[in-house]
Amino acid sequence: MLGKVLSSTFVTKCCTVNTMSQISRRYAAKKTLTQRYQDFFNPSFPKPPYNFICQIGDPILRQPCDVVDESLINTPGFQDMIAHMWELHRTHEILGLSAPQIGLPLQVAVIGFTEAQCKERDSKYIAPIPHRVLINPKFKVLDHNIKVTESEGCASVCGYSAEVSRFAHIQVEALNEKGVKETWKASGFEARAIQHEIDHLQGIIFVDKMEAKSLECSVWQHVNLYKGQGYISFGPGRRTFLSKIQRLLS
Ligand SMILES: [Zn+2]
Repeated sequence: MLGKVLSSTFVTKCCTVNTMSQISRRYAAKKTLTQRYQDFFNPSFPKPPYNFICQIGDPILRQPCDVVDESLINTPGFQDMIAHMWELHRTHEILGLSAPQIGLPLQVAVIGFTEAQCKERDSKYIAPIPHRVLINPKFKVLDHNIKVTESEGCASVCGYSAEVSRFAHIQVEALNEKGVKETWKASGFEARAIQHEIDHLQGIIFVDKMEAKSLECSVWQHVNLYKGQGYISFGPGRRTFLSKIQRLLS
């Protein structure tokens, strides 16, 4: 499925839709002159939305994203982009994904975590999260005195995790995939996931907020066990690979 690599059909479909052209123009305008020249002379340079997840160091992850114009939400191009984000969310087995992680500086994210995914993790803190599209999301802290420190990772910092302190109770406001405003209260794991994704939309990555000494490579034991052998996957099936390693080590 993902092998279609943002198939030419998808690209053509997006490019024919005004929405995606507007998005691409905005993206192009934010690039430096050197970057634009590099793209121009390299026809194989992929164009967003990517079918892979950008990694830390990519400038797209460090800029505040644009607020989405509500009139664009129900257009085919925008809906295609959301479907594409869900596809990556599923194939990469991740909890959340934001638009800048696929190269688009827009305030859009998807989150969701199933009961089955929770069972794969050995943690009482992790709980199912309803699948939601968050467009132009905002949150209000409901209790500034309660923060929880837990391990956190990110598909844009593949292979590493660290402890991050987050507010335990928040109230969220966002437009859904139909452009309808929704408000709800979130706690614990869901509150953490939402704060993580909203951070992405402001150019913030969890490493900016982590407890530095808690940073760890997810496969460090594997590296020891196999005398320096091991690798970090950036593609689909990453979670399955890590689970396999954890099973080997247990
Ligand atoms: Zn992330």
